[in-house]
Amino acid sequence: MPTLQELANPSVLTQPVYEPGKPIEDVARELGLDPDGIIKIASNENPAGPSPLGIEAARRALAQAQLYPDGGCVALRAKLAEKWRLSPEQFVVGNGSNELLELVGRVFLRPGDEVVMGAPAFAVYKLVALLFGAKPVEVPLVNHTHDLAAMLRAVTPRTRIVYYASPNNPTGTINNAGEILDFARALPPHVVLVFDEAYTEFVEADGDAPDIRPLIAEGRHVIGLRTFSKLYGLAALRIGYGYASEEFAALLNRVRQPFNVNAIAQAAAIAALDDHDFTARCVRENKSGLAQIEEGCRELGLECVPSRANFMLVKVGDGARVFDALQRRGVIVRPLRGYAMPEWIRVTIGTAPQNEKFLKELKQVCA
Ligand SMILES: *Cc1c(COP(=O)(O)O)cnc(C)c1O
Repeated sequence: MPTLQELANPSVLTQPVYEPGKPIEDVARELGLDPDGIIKIASNENPAGPSPLGIEAARRALAQAQLYPDGGCVALRAKLAEKWRLSPEQFVVGNGSNELLELVGRVFLRPGDEVVMGAPAFAVYKLVALLFGAKPVEVPLVNHTHDLAAMLRAVTPRTRIVYYASPNNPTGTINNAGEILDFARALPPHVVLVFDEAYTEFVEADGDAPDIRPLIAEGRHVIGLRTFSKLYGLAALRIGYGYASEEFAALLNRVRQPFNVNAIAQAAAIAALDDHDFTARCVRENKSGLAQIEEGCRELGLECVPSRANFMLVKVGDGARVFDALQRRGVIVRPLRGYAMPEWIRVTIGTAPQNEKFLKELKQVCA
C-alpha cells in the first residue's frame, strides 16, 4: 500500500511552513510565567486593541450566527466603493489579505513561472510562489529598502507576478511614492503587480503613500491589498480586501470559496471603517512609539532601521538568544532567522508602557 507521503503531490512535501508568532498562553505555559505579565509585541497586532465600533458591530452580528454570511460581501463592498470612489465590482474581500495573496497565485501562476519579490519581504510571497510550482526570484534590498531598479531588471518573459509591500515587512521601510508609481508603469504588461498595503495607513496620513487608483484607471495589471488586521485591530476576525479593475476582481472572486469571509468579520469591518477617532489615535500613538523605541535603541547603542510601519528592526547581535532571553522575561518579539537576518529582531510598537518594558528588558538582556 502506498504511504500518504507517496500519494501526496510532491510539491506539498517540499512546501515550507509559515512560522507564526506563539500565542501568549503557550509561552506562559511553556515557561511557567503568569500570562498577565507577558507582552506580545511580535506579530504587528494593534496594542490599542480592536476598533471599538468594530467590536460592537461584531457582537450584534453574533446574534445571527445561525445564518450563512453574505457570500458577496455586498454591504462591505458598497461601503468600500464609496470610501475609495471606485465601483463595488472593483473589490474582492478575503479571509485576511493573506488569502488574497494566495488567490492571485491561483489565478495567474503555472509551474515554471517566475515571481519577483524583495529579500527580505513578507514570507508568504515566497510560499505562494512555491505552492503553485513557480520560482521565487528574490531581489536583495538596499539599505533595507526595495531596490526597484533591480526588481525591474529581474523581470523576464517568465515573470507573472511581482509582490511588493510598502511599508515593507520586516523592514518597515518605504520607497518614494513617485518612484513606486514609475516602477508600476515601467513593468511590462505580462506582469501582475500585487501592491501589499498592509501598513500603508501609517504612512498615508503624512502623504507619503502612493495612490494606485490612477494605475488601475490606466488599465494596468495592478491590485492593492488592504487588511483590517493591523490599524483596525481585527486580526482575529481574518478580513482584508483587494481593489483593482473589475476584470481583475472578477477573476479572484471566481476562485475563492463562496463563503470565504464570515459574517462577524464583515459586520466589524464595515463599522471599523467609520472608527476615525480610533484609527487617528492609533496612528498618532504609533508614531510616538516609533520615536520612543528609536531613541531607546540609540541610548543602548543598538542599531535600528527607521521604520514607517508599526514595528521596527533592531540589531542585537544574536537574535535567537535575545529573542529567547526576552521571552523568559515576559516580552515576546520576533526572531528573524526565517528572514535570513539572524542578528536582528523585529519588535512591534506597543503602548508606551509596553515599549518602556521592552527597552528595560532589552537593556538587561544585552548588558
Ligand atoms: C500582516 C500582513 C498582511 C495582512 O495579513 P492578514 O491576512 O490580512 O491578517 C499582509 N501583508 C503583510 C506584509 C503583512 O505584514
